[in-house]
Amino acid sequence: MALRTLLMNGWIIDGTGREAFPGSVAIDDGRLPSVGTVEVSRDDECIDCAGLTILPGLVDAHVHLIDDNITNAYEAELARSIPEATVDAAANAERLLRLGFTTVREAGTRANIGVAVRDGVRAKKIRGPRVVTAGTIISTPGGLGDFFPSHLFERAPYYPSSQSSLVVGPAEARAVVRRQVKDGVDWIKVGVSGTGFNPRCPADRVAISDEELGAVIDEAAVQRRPVMAHAESRESIVAAARAGVRTIEHGVYLDDEGVEAMLAGGVALCPTLAMYSAFAERGGDFGIPKDIVEQHRRTHNSHVESVRKAYAAGVPIIAGGDAGLAHFPQGRCVEEIARYVELIGMSSLGALATITRVAAEVLGLGEAVGTLERGKLADLVLVRADPGDCVTALQDPANVVGVFQEGELVHEVDRPAPRLERGRAPAPQAVQGR
Ligand SMILES: [Zn+2]
Repeated sequence: MALRTLLMNGWIIDGTGREAFPGSVAIDDGRLPSVGTVEVSRDDECIDCAGLTILPGLVDAHVHLIDDNITNAYEAELARSIPEATVDAAANAERLLRLGFTTVREAGTRANIGVAVRDGVRAKKIRGPRVVTAGTIISTPGGLGDFFPSHLFERAPYYPSSQSSLVVGPAEARAVVRRQVKDGVDWIKVGVSGTGFNPRCPADRVAISDEELGAVIDEAAVQRRPVMAHAESRESIVAAARAGVRTIEHGVYLDDEGVEAMLAGGVALCPTLAMYSAFAERGGDFGIPKDIVEQHRRTHNSHVESVRKAYAAGVPIIAGGDAGLAHFPQGRCVEEIARYVELIGMSSLGALATITRVAAEVLGLGEAVGTLERGKLADLVLVRADPGDCVTALQDPANVVGVFQEGELVHEVDRPAPRLERGRAPAPQAVQGR
């Protein structure tokens, strides 16, 4: 019989939404044969989890793996070559895994880096979370992803190493979707509004035509790929939800019509509220240009109101970090759920569900991960605190003492902190959960 690993006597938050309970978790062949009560046999490896909370592996539904320590568009794109950005993405993937993120959704990358990282992790060439990935962000000249003045790219508006593919007309939009699917993406990312980060195309501007958006969504449907829409303005949220996207990213100016369209279409909201809040509150301290900080200060209250409205109406909320900026590093998605408790009125367990079960379901992985339930993959995090009591406990990386990915212990806390106690079971016995 293969060696099983038993996580003994922990405090279990299983991610289903039920209250936390004391118990043990068995890991066998990468899966969870039992959660709560486990039968111990002589050959089992036991890890003492007394004083630890056992959580499902975390899911960040909005990452840009290439980004780290970015303060402006120049650093995001022009300053780094594709090989440099690829190395950064691999390093960031490893960092996210150590912080407890066993699954991420890449929300827009350069070249085909998301696919390369995904496949590298799958093939165990590099360490990182399970990646579901979009390709470049489909945008338009003058739209979301067109950051640079026209004179720079006068004769080549589609510079190939950009994080965005700029399309004009439905035919080009379709062509990009087809090429991305051919190149292996799981999701399509489209920029429907501008953004507070791009002074050339602010958040309240619709940045793509109905025909172009329709072509993206139609072609994605033909190719069986879900679409995630960057949509901040009121009109862009309504247009994207009605056109058939699976998720709205940011949703800063969501109104009743937008909520109605999202509910009707089964569309989830990935607010990335913490990163936007951090911009408004602390952006200036970290060298973010003043006009961008000012824009975020103006939009912050609307953003909070939008997320409250969506949550109250029953729109699924999924946690996304959108990290990589100077003051908002990779892994800060754990701050996102603290904002949900602080600003939106979620319970801690409700907020934890947005970064585990709900996110996994919206990403199409609900059968495999997102909760600690019998038969699922053994993605889990051991935390030296009870995030069900206080979600901010996850913000201290020192509290994340162990991370399992498909049953393999991929991270344990560094010395000098105490390492996980391992040992053989003393004798066959049953360990009772509640
Ligand atoms: Zn983003």
